[in-house]
Amino acid sequence: MKQTITLIRGDGIGPEVADAVVAILDAAGAPFAYEEAVVGRAAEEAEGDPLPEKVLASVRKNRVALKGPVGTPIGKGFQSVNVRLRQAFELYANLRPVRNVPAVESRFQGVDLVVVRENTESLYSGLEHVVVPGVVESLKIITERASTRIARYALDYARAHGRRRVTAIHKANIMKLSDGLFLECFRRVAEEYPDIQADDRIVDAACMRLVMNPESFDVLLLENLYGDIVSDLAAGLVGGLGVVPGANLGRDTAVFETVHGTAPDIAGQDKANPTALLMSAILMLRYLDLSPEADRVEGALLATLRAGIKTADLGGSAGTRAFAKAVAERLG
Ligand code: NAD
Repeated sequence: MKQTITLIRGDGIGPEVADAVVAILDAAGAPFAYEEAVVGRAAEEAEGDPLPEKVLASVRKNRVALKGPVGTPIGKGFQSVNVRLRQAFELYANLRPVRNVPAVESRFQGVDLVVVRENTESLYSGLEHVVVPGVVESLKIITERASTRIARYALDYARAHGRRRVTAIHKANIMKLSDGLFLECFRRVAEEYPDIQADDRIVDAACMRLVMNPESFDVLLLENLYGDIVSDLAAGLVGGLGVVPGANLGRDTAVFETVHGTAPDIAGQDKANPTALLMSAILMLRYLDLSPEADRVEGALLATLRAGIKTADLGGSAGTRAFAKAVAERLG
């Protein structure tokens, strides 16, 4: 039986990369049917809401979505659709595996780490106010519940994926209460996982080590803001946001998405690189226990890159469609 996936093609290059990925998944025989959902500016114009209820209903029903990038107006206009989706389905874990990709230039080799970011609280709670003119306060919320839940997710992930170590990253030397609680929850949960090495590092020292010895990290566990920053730093170690996947996971719902944006400068020109969304789709296949299909698609993607077939952002000359065709031909 086919699994129905909510497909959010997104804006800008979103439709091009989404079409490329769907073509590759179809060629790989992935047993999916797609329910298309429109969000963002187009949905706001048509339905008066950038994230209409029918899209939420589709994700609620299917529990899995594949999502291209969606534009967010800066400093005005509607709230980020990405953030609203995370809130609506309590997608508390943001997962970003970061690995070197063949034929993609980067400063480092041998990088193979996983960033697990808590997605629901910390300084992203949106609780800011003016105390008196010229003084503002931004509240950092850390709860035992969310810290315990994300620690357990990171440790379970490590165990399920043959990882040896989880490093909690924090600033508990300064924020003794908030980061202290995050760390305490991690340490407490880690006692239940004697097979996984659990350690921790202060965020500034961890950043230095990441850019000096990235290969020394395995799974990194971070609260929301540090996770946001460090996950992009980690992507930069292997060639940038175009070659890393992303997933937002809740208790029973998951959204697999690009971490790059809508690239308006190249939209509609058959220049976009579908690699990041394809890698997110590979995560989705594994999440759905379709590992043979995931391995085939991953093998074909890596073989294509190894053959020097690349889009312009990676120094190649292939268009989006030609790249997707080359991957599909290597599915074996
Ligand atoms: P961007 O990632 O869209 O573009 C930055 C640069 O990277 C551009 O030069 C672009 O051409 C290039 N690029 C990005 N993805 C590429 C790909 N797949 N192939 C080839 N080149 C690629 O970042 P931005 O310009 O800061 O943001 C543009 C819009 O995207 C904004 O509206 C922003 O809100 C939105 N955005 C959405 C998401 C998301 O939905 N997950 C993430 C980030 C930004």
